Amino acid sequence: MRMQACKVSPRHFTRSGWSSLLPPRAPHDQLPRERRFYAIVIGAGYTGLAAARRLAELMPNRQILIIEALEIGEGLSARNSGFLLVYPNAPKAGASGPVDEDAIRKIRVAAAGLDWLRTLVADYNIECDWDEHAPRVTVAATLAGERAARDSVRSFKNWNMDLQEYNANEIGGLLGTGYYRYGYQPSARALVQPAALVRGLSETLPHNVAILENTPVCEISSNAPFSVQTTRATFMADYLFVASNTHAGAFHPSLDRMVPVFTYGALTPQLDADELGRLGSIPSWGVVPALAMGTTMRKVNGRLLVRSGWSYAKEFNVVNVRSVLTMLFRRRFPAMRSYEFEHAWGGAIASTYNGEFYFGKVRPGLYASVGCAGAGVLRATIHGKLLAEMAVGFQSPLLTDRLSLAGPSWLPPEPLRGMAATAKLAWLDWRAGGER
Ligand SMILES: Cc1cc2nc3c(=O)[nH]c(=O)nc-3n(C[C@H](O)[C@H](O)[C@H](O)COP(=O)(O)OP(=O)(O)OC[C@H]3O[C@@H](n4cnc5c(N)ncnc54)[C@H](O)[C@@H]3O)c2cc1C
Repeated sequence: MRMQACKVSPRHFTRSGWSSLLPPRAPHDQLPRERRFYAIVIGAGYTGLAAARRLAELMPNRQILIIEALEIGEGLSARNSGFLLVYPNAPKAGASGPVDEDAIRKIRVAAAGLDWLRTLVADYNIECDWDEHAPRVTVAATLAGERAARDSVRSFKNWNMDLQEYNANEIGGLLGTGYYRYGYQPSARALVQPAALVRGLSETLPHNVAILENTPVCEISSNAPFSVQTTRATFMADYLFVASNTHAGAFHPSLDRMVPVFTYGALTPQLDADELGRLGSIPSWGVVPALAMGTTMRKVNGRLLVRSGWSYAKEFNVVNVRSVLTMLFRRRFPAMRSYEFEHAWGGAIASTYNGEFYFGKVRPGLYASVGCAGAGVLRATIHGKLLAEMAVGFQSPLLTDRLSLAGPSWLPPEPLRGMAATAKLAWLDWRAGGER
């Protein structure tokens, strides 16, 4: 036994803007009568919900409990920008082999996440503004960004992956801004309302899954059967799945390879037709930056989303967030009448030094999938599913692919960790330049 994970479990200054747009919901925060479960999943984000769903399908007579520190729709899974990203932004070599093989495996794994999510959304009629048609372009505003984007395009073309390139005029026509000089769009893509998606996934779980919200897990025991101590009660389980992401290092030393990096999102109020027209003539689009630390934007349901900025471990106050995001909005769309935001929020992504994720068996009965960083919706989803399959001994080529990928590299303890992370983030921020 180690840690008091509830001391580091997530808290945020403001609600997720996406959740604020949805009707109120009643959290499942009544303690279940039973204290003993076949499996407990810590965290009700995409990873935890996927792991619980798949395990329940494979073991229909076993009871599974998901324990979530916050309310569903207030964690990172509802704080993201809603891009379902299949292609890595900058393919690079990994431990599993040369760049091509490694990246193709990663794309295969993420694409399986997209296929599975699409099926779930269709089968359960999850209303989450699922959109596979709106343009979703990786954009470059600077020469360095354009070089990086063109490098990625060359790799994708070598792997016979479908994509469309855009010059500055074409992007200008699409988005209504002359800010960008180059862009490309992968054929496999989707955009969603992330809070609606995560809510929908939680509401359509098999009957043998129970959820307990607003209950942080504080400690777990080392061996099965696991004792899982929360702020409100202690539960027992034969299998334990750690899907609590950013601070999962508190549960086991081998998971302590992530740093929390806050990034920030904001949504404008509903814009009138005139203002929307200044954001291009089509009703919705999404752009992600060609370089890390750049700015993401979406025109979505009559609003503009801006996502950018970073801070290490500590969340900025909302006044700072609004002022940074307003500046970035104004820079790209100088002719707007207003730069007001109705909602602004932050979330701490789990970044690893080498960009790889932790996936697999930690000890007998203890499984974990954490560290999906800023492109985790699809990866978290499919990792959760594969983790459940791995736990029950279900083999597949996809699981073999996933198991062949590298894990996160070692990180020094604090304060060295914070110093190294801050220096690296500052360098990436400087390199991003006008992509911010
Ligand atoms: C502003 C922003 C924009 C982003 N945009 C995108 C995007 O467009 N596309 C994309 O793919 N990704 C994006 N991401 C990243 C994405 O949200 C994450 O990669 C994804 O949510 C990871 O899913 P997860 O289930 O592994 O972890 P999480 O979503 O973090 O879920 C973990 C859950 O565990 C809970 N938890 C933590 N500690 C405890 C504890 N002690 N006890 C119980 N529960 C606990 C948390 O409350 C949380 O709900 C973005 C992130 C941010 C912050």
